[in-house]
Amino acid sequence: MKKTLMDILACPVCKGTLELTVGSEDGDDVITGSLACAQCNESYPIEESIPNLLPPELRSL
Ligand SMILES: [Zn+2]
Repeated sequence: MKKTLMDILACPVCKGTLELTVGSEDGDDVITGSLACAQCNESYPIEESIPNLLPPELRSL
């Protein structure tokens, strides 16, 4: 995902601000990492450049 996406992304649970942690990146593209919400303490993985913003209870299976 592009780092500029951070401007429009919000926590799907509480609509709070997400904080980006970069694992690996390519230019302004984040390949792996995570998005953490300080407000509700959820975190969302970024894999293969795609942020997984499903609420945790819908993520498995
Ligand atoms: Zn949240």
